[in-house]
Amino acid sequence: MKLHEYQSKRLFARYGVPIPRGDVATTPEEARRITARLDQRVVIKSQVLVGGRGKAGGIRLANDPDEAEQIADAILGMDIKGLAVKKVLVDEAADIATEIYLGIVIDRARRRPVMMASAEGGVEIEEVARATPERIVRVTIDPFLGLQTYQGRELAFGIGLPKNLVRDFVKIAQGLYQAFLESDASLAEINPLVVTGTGKLLAVDGKVLLDDNALFRHFELAEMRDADSETLEEQEARRHGLSYVKLDGEIGCMVNGAGLAMATMDIIKLHGGEPANFLDIGGSSNPDKVVAALEIITSDPNVKVILFNIFGGITRCDDVANGIVEATKRIDIDVPLVIRLTGTNEEEGVRILEGAGMSAATSMDEVVERAVALAAEA
Ligand code: GDP
Ligand code: MN
Repeated sequence: MKLHEYQSKRLFARYGVPIPRGDVATTPEEARRITARLDQRVVIKSQVLVGGRGKAGGIRLANDPDEAEQIADAILGMDIKGLAVKKVLVDEAADIATEIYLGIVIDRARRRPVMMASAEGGVEIEEVARATPERIVRVTIDPFLGLQTYQGRELAFGIGLPKNLVRDFVKIAQGLYQAFLESDASLAEINPLVVTGTGKLLAVDGKVLLDDNALFRHFELAEMRDADSETLEEQEARRHGLSYVKLDGEIGCMVNGAGLAMATMDIIKLHGGEPANFLDIGGSSNPDKVVAALEIITSDPNVKVILFNIFGGITRCDDVANGIVEATKRIDIDVPLVIRLTGTNEEEGVRILEGAGMSAATSMDEVVERAVALAAEA
């Protein structure tokens, strides 16, 4: 789950990171009031969960409340990379001297958090990594020790930060790490962290990615979810405890277990097909989950065939078979179903399907080949 800029910055501020004064508006009038209260030049920033808002025209400066109202009116309702702007952040405008990048991610290869800093702030770090990788300084963090002061200094010196700012920089880096750690984030980023004209550090933009699997212990963060950033199908899937990712292909996939789901997509590709989704119905599957999953898959107009790949372990094949039969009664499915059932209660599952006029195979290759052929014919 992604946090909006204003949410990210407020989170960072709780850990001592300096952020501009400001507030969120959903109407132009509100933007005017906030500007009047701040009583200075402001920056109006679209709150959408994509990067590059600046380039897309979603970030503009306003000199007074009148102008703020006008600009907020123009930005609210704008479409930025397919997302409608429903909120703007009205911040006191920063007087920017230089822009720094400061971010932290999990490095899977090192199995540790890595903090990165660059003097090339304000542009996407992926771009810096591609064009001038030597401009990124990294330190690996020992999770038992946390970000050490000397590591913060190493980053500061590595990016050529003026000496008088090093202390503050280290505090910000440690605050950012603490925010990352305590919210179970997979990424926390300040881009840009600016040096102002008066020589102070200020976090002007913030980004946080949270680990969905840890949200159960972060009620307050989970509450911040922006439903608009998810499709209806993704919301439904989450409500039913299904892992669903929509893709662009034509073969709807219903699989139990994430590993098997990945393998299924690979085999579809191997046989020349394209999966329409990743969907993991999870371990113990009750028929209701199968019905919900089928509703989600069939709501995608690209789907030409639905492939079930069920390996019965904790999941029982007869449960899934019942779910399939139940689903075909409850919803209209006008695409062919190709079913593979193997494992726990396989015979029972096959019998249930046959009783309802359907069939199942046990070989994965066989069903995938059939699904690819059916998708090609349709
Ligand atoms: P992003 O484009 O979505 O990453 O949004 P950012 O918040 O990072 O803003 C993009 C750029 O707009 C920054 O790198 C700055 O150059 C500029 N910008 C953002 N806020 C301010 C501000 O308060 N004052 C000034 N002068 N420029 C700003
Ligand atoms: Mn940015």
